[in-house]
Amino acid sequence: MNNLFIISGPSGVGKSTLIDYILNTIPQSRLSISCTTRSPRYYEHDGKEYYFIMENKFREMIQNEELLEYVYCFGNYYGTPKSEVDNILKNNGICILDVEFAGAMSILKYYKNNAEVKCTSILVMPPSIIELRKRLLERGSENEEAISRRLSGFNSEELAYYEPFYDYIITNNNLKTTKEVVLDIFKKSIGDK
Ligand code: ADP
Ligand code: 5GP
Repeated sequence: MNNLFIISGPSGVGKSTLIDYILNTIPQSRLSISCTTRSPRYYEHDGKEYYFIMENKFREMIQNEELLEYVYCFGNYYGTPKSEVDNILKNNGICILDVEFAGAMSILKYYKNNAEVKCTSILVMPPSIIELRKRLLERGSENEEAISRRLSGFNSEELAYYEPFYDYIITNNNLKTTKEVVLDIFKKSIGDK
């Protein structure tokens, strides 16, 4: 049985921080590196957080059906290369995907009838919108306008619709506690606990 974990949540909630913790704690875990047309942030490197590609290359990947799913979000394209997930699962890795709601739904649907792949979905929520804004500001990777766009992209109607599709909904308040909660979920799903 292969394990695949989907992590969703608003920009700045702490998804990457939590995923980094899992990658450093569970040796078989691997991040499915998405393709994006957005520019790298000051701390990001091509091939680590994302494959940063031009829009024409992204379109080519869509044409060639190389993407498991893709979305246009906050003015850029984001997509999951089939090869990323396939390679991780083929090598018995534990696959982690950091994707927004629509992507999460596509992936869940894609693997729904696959008895070989166990999907676990986690929605990470902020303690408040004020705290979320603070984290985005402190990260210093987006300007005010981009932050506002990211915050407004996270609306309660959409959230209410998607929440029931997730196995776990957790609030990232105290980071140390959240890391423990996420690690517990991973261990439970993998069968270590
Ligand atoms: P995301 O991947 O969801 O966009 P990040 O992991 O980049 O979010 O986190 C955004 C910022 O918030 C980072 O500067 C990170 O260090 C910080 N952060 C993450 N979790 C917490 C937490 N529980 N409390 C305070 N700051 C946090
Ligand atoms: P960011 O620009 O903050 O890195 O990502 C913006 C949003 O895109 C986040 O919600 C993140 O989860 C989502 N995302 C990143 N990669 C993918 C992907 O390959 N597919 C989908 N559907 N969403 C993605």
